[in-house]
Amino acid sequence: MSILQDQHGRVIRKLRFSLTDRCNLRCHYCMPLDTQFMDKSEYLDLNLAIEVLSELNELGLEELRLTGGEPLLRKGFDDFLESLSSFNFKKIGLTTNGILLDKFFDQLLEANVKHLNISLDSLNPMTFQEITHGDYFERVRKNIIKASELGFEIKINMILMKNINDHEVESFIQLAKTYNLEVRFLELMKIGLANQKQRDQFISAKEVIDQLSEKYILKPITQEKDSTSFNYLIDGANIGFIASESQAFCGHCSRWRLSSDGILRACLFKEAGISVKNTTKVQRFDIYTKLLGMKPLERVQSVGHMMNRIGG
Ligand code: SAM
Ligand code: SF4
Repeated sequence: MSILQDQHGRVIRKLRFSLTDRCNLRCHYCMPLDTQFMDKSEYLDLNLAIEVLSELNELGLEELRLTGGEPLLRKGFDDFLESLSSFNFKKIGLTTNGILLDKFFDQLLEANVKHLNISLDSLNPMTFQEITHGDYFERVRKNIIKASELGFEIKINMILMKNINDHEVESFIQLAKTYNLEVRFLELMKIGLANQKQRDQFISAKEVIDQLSEKYILKPITQEKDSTSFNYLIDGANIGFIASESQAFCGHCSRWRLSSDGILRACLFKEAGISVKNTTKVQRFDIYTKLLGMKPLERVQSVGHMMNRIGG
């Protein structure tokens, strides 16, 4: 039995580590154009991060996902990747906007980081630019194709937004088919800046599934119990939905988060967490025990903190 099990029987198997709050895009639901980033001196030292990951790995943590901000912007990312290869994780993944991926393909493969979640909200360069405030569509597109050729397992994260990109769902299904990758349609979560967008832009997974069902047969694909997505085979493509707002999955949640400033949190929607900075190993084991009691059983309605800081 895992040591990281809470009072409701939920086993903590997965950790998302945000390496930085900085980003080379400004997706309108994530951060404002004039975002104030934390001073780099506030970052969790990567050597300490390695210690924490190693301890959690020994306690039963099986999966690690590197995120941000844009994780590929963190100085020392390549050395950090190298240190990960000594661990015993079943799966190491990276969530990225894809802009800098080509600079890291070799290191990622060497460190066995084969699972890439690449965020792409539109297949139209203009819409991409409007959403992200960055002129990088072509670069991201090329990197997705290259990653697919190199054998990475790719999931595209596409946030559904009414009257912005909801008409592109079928094009994304074609993308999944063409490049043999999975596309996951995400509900816009009430977090940080997105709180203001909810009323006009939110579209539920059910609405999209109902529309698709009028034209296609959706064959459910069985997922792990603690998976955040539910998936279908549709027209030969693997698609998933992450319905964090309409169908919260707190009862099966197996995830903790470590923020770029070193705060370990039991839930994305809880501001409260405990810093691992300036701690001894003994103190950290006390922190891990305390955190087991901090995971809510039900979905917290909304939060004001910023997604890039906690780590998406
Ligand atoms: N910069 C990287 C990226 O965009 O993939 C990693 C960090 S980003 C915060 C991680 C994921 O969170 C992205 O797929 C992004 O689309 C998603 N995200 C950010 N804000 C969100 C929101 N309000 N609701 C749903 N997903 C959100
Ligand atoms: Fe950057 Fe990712 Fe946030 Fe977009 S969603 S601004 S790419 S951190």
